[in-house]
Amino acid sequence: MNTRSLPQTEAAAAAELARLAALLQRHDRAYHEQDAPEVTDAEYDAIRAENNAIEAAFPSLIRPDSPSMRVGGAPAGGFAQLRHRMPMLSLDNAFDAEEFIEFAERAARFLGRKDVDFAMVAEPKIDGLSVSLTYHDGQLLHAATRGDGTTGEDVTANIRTVAGIPHMLTKPFPARIEVRGEVFIAKADFLTLNVAQEEAGQRPFANPRNAAAGSLRQLDFRITRSRPLRMFAYAMGEASAPVASTHWGYLGQLKAWKFSVNPLSTQLQGPAEADAFQERMGLERSGLGYDIDGVVYKIDDLGLQSRLGFVGRAPRWAIAWKFPAQQATTVLEDILIQVGRTGALTPVAVLTAVGVGGVLVTRATLHNEDEITRKDIRIGDTVVVQRAGDVIPQIVSVKVELRPDNARVFVPPERCPVCGSHAVRLPGEVVRRCTGGLICPAQTEERLIHLASRGAFDIEGLGEKTVRELVTDGLLKTLADIFRLPDKEMALAVREHWGPISARNLVHAIEQRRDIPFERFILGLGIRRIGEVNAKLLARHYTSFANWRSQMLAAVAIGSDARSDLGAILRIGPTIANELAEFFAEPRNVASMDALAAELRIADAVVDTAVNSALSGKTVVFTGSLETLARPEAKALAERLGAKVTDAVTRKTDLVVIGADPGSKARKAAELGIRVITEAEFRALAATSPA
Ligand SMILES: [Zn+2]
Repeated sequence: MNTRSLPQTEAAAAAELARLAALLQRHDRAYHEQDAPEVTDAEYDAIRAENNAIEAAFPSLIRPDSPSMRVGGAPAGGFAQLRHRMPMLSLDNAFDAEEFIEFAERAARFLGRKDVDFAMVAEPKIDGLSVSLTYHDGQLLHAATRGDGTTGEDVTANIRTVAGIPHMLTKPFPARIEVRGEVFIAKADFLTLNVAQEEAGQRPFANPRNAAAGSLRQLDFRITRSRPLRMFAYAMGEASAPVASTHWGYLGQLKAWKFSVNPLSTQLQGPAEADAFQERMGLERSGLGYDIDGVVYKIDDLGLQSRLGFVGRAPRWAIAWKFPAQQATTVLEDILIQVGRTGALTPVAVLTAVGVGGVLVTRATLHNEDEITRKDIRIGDTVVVQRAGDVIPQIVSVKVELRPDNARVFVPPERCPVCGSHAVRLPGEVVRRCTGGLICPAQTEERLIHLASRGAFDIEGLGEKTVRELVTDGLLKTLADIFRLPDKEMALAVREHWGPISARNLVHAIEQRRDIPFERFILGLGIRRIGEVNAKLLARHYTSFANWRSQMLAAVAIGSDARSDLGAILRIGPTIANELAEFFAEPRNVASMDALAAELRIADAVVDTAVNSALSGKTVVFTGSLETLARPEAKALAERLGAKVTDAVTRKTDLVVIGADPGSKARKAAELGIRVITEAEFRALAATSPA
């Protein structure tokens, strides 16, 4: 490893150690507590190495809060704390064969032997989150993250949802045993998860490790359960009785207990075989389903392990041989915009081709606009590119000193580069989106799949695969095209693997959906945030397609009555109102929607006209605290009687029901001359109405 020039004086060294301690503490917090590292692992290791080199040269200056005495960050708030009965320490690192041999020689010297050819176990080092699982009488009792090595977070409820972890051990087992492992997320699952994150308007995870950590450290274990976490078990903590005499034997026992153990783990002998294994893993790394950042080598004999013991924070009997950082420097030539299947606009860096870890890299993700601003990346800059765990190349940093005078600041596009619709970034979102949902070719396929899906129009025989084929063959381009397929029955029948019968069946299924309830129609448009519940709310509120259409067009104008009326619908609110307004603001969306509507007979929503109550068709607002009815119950009652319940008082409100301390809504009602009744009057009204 290259060492930087050391400080020349004690004062300079002390100052530098203080600076590095603060810096590492900050990075530790960002990494362990916020799951959002600011530096790469390689950079972090370099800072740590620098600190250690200064401490080695000036041992008297080692600080009480020295980073070399600490492991990771303090536990985050929100979780109960669990103290590890045996500290969870971290490993020393080697970065090349020479450092590995030094490790073996140190161990041999300690044991007073010349031979460095130890029997060892090599295990790919997973880039995830270390956890400790404690079993009592074979039952999983509790689980903790590593935390600061001494105390971790109690993630017992969450860990029970992770694959590869038995809740109960099969006999025989020691009365008490602690098993350690690494929780991780596979590369493919990581990519899927990030698409979902962006969909939900959330910041994507920087890498699979952060995704795993962020998923496990959820206060709601149901969120953890929804995330595809796995665990490989790899180490023994405390045990009330010996389980094996070698580490390899221990791994075998773990497998017998039905833990997942990394199948690539292997036994080998001494530095020469370790070197060969390291090289093999380096080559296979990119093809693995999960990230590894090196290989851990452990002296196999547990007797030797206990003789070797620990020095500082790390065992003498194991070492993590890290892969070299896969980084390179190149020029950012341009920033392109990619449009995802859901309309998300992602900036992509176009790079002068450069080899990174044996792969030619010409593109790198820039995640989003904020990321570009945060790293101050400009077109023309010389940048450091990294293949982060082999997933997607990313830009680590900019070499500002090499910035040319004509470097250009990136300007986010106002229009979708694929379809030309206006692109917007709504308040509170990190992602800019194309608003041309119905006409943007980048999104068409997903919209068609959605419309035909069981949740929306439910057209039998028009599943995802068929839609994709029909799009490829040019038979489907717009939503309306689905209802033009019956005219193309012949063309369908001659398709590969089809025939007159399947063509006939599809045409029949499509014809059955020409009569469609209004709410299904709204749902079928696939407008963002308009799922089943909201589609139903809209249908009930506006009752007919024609009315909804004209009200939505009017609602495009911010501050219009139609917009406030829309935002005031119970559970719709301003965010969803924004999405609808953006959809209707794009005339070509409206044209595409109209073309679809022209193919259909859209049935008006039935607002319980059968219920001929004093409340049917009325728009009602509740305000203040009700005394005899819970608010949800009151709303449900009003709705059952055919009323629309909204949150805000507008000109369209017919009735305001006031409880105690009614506040501004009651004043507004008085101003607008709207009828105001008490809770008791409301109950009386409800009682006299047929339910
Ligand atoms: Zn577009």
